[in-house]
Amino acid sequence: MPDIRCWKCGKEYRVDVCFGGGIVACPHCNVKTRVTKTGVLYYTEPVGVFVSDVTIMELLEPIITDPDVWNKLNDIEQERLTEAAKCYAVGAYTACESMCYDALVSLLRRIYGERRELGYYVQQMENDPDLREVRGAIAYFASKRHEVDHPDRIADKIEAESTLTMTKRLIREIIMKKV
Ligand SMILES: [Zn+2]
Repeated sequence: MPDIRCWKCGKEYRVDVCFGGGIVACPHCNVKTRVTKTGVLYYTEPVGVFVSDVTIMELLEPIITDPDVWNKLNDIEQERLTEAAKCYAVGAYTACESMCYDALVSLLRRIYGERRELGYYVQQMENDPDLREVRGAIAYFASKRHEVDHPDRIADKIEAESTLTMTKRLIREIIMKKV
């Protein structure tokens, strides 16, 4: 019975998803969330909100329209980025950031090996001469490293927008230089 955080109001509540996943409603604001269990991890995504493909495309420019980048991402990475754009579009800023982290970690695990968390890969990238043109983006994630370990905090629109922008910049450079 995990505690999940409502993507709309930010409050936490306990859900009974021992069956593996399903749709739950927030007891505080009644907004629905889909909970999916993958291994020991729970993913949450907004339910009942429609986000057009055009909006998703716009938010994921320029990487989604560049086949040299987008087609080199695996299914998980494409899905997490699409989900990040959807979450941003509906105001689920904290979820947007965590989807960005998931996409990045998946790609970084393919590049640098091992199954570590974002902080470890930030250090790898800081020391990687191939990635010197995106030092700014790497420094951005270095500064966010502590937040990743503190899921209590709630992101606002500007933070989510920065994280999405930096994620795209980093992914583009990693694909061009390392894949
Ligand atoms: Zn709520």
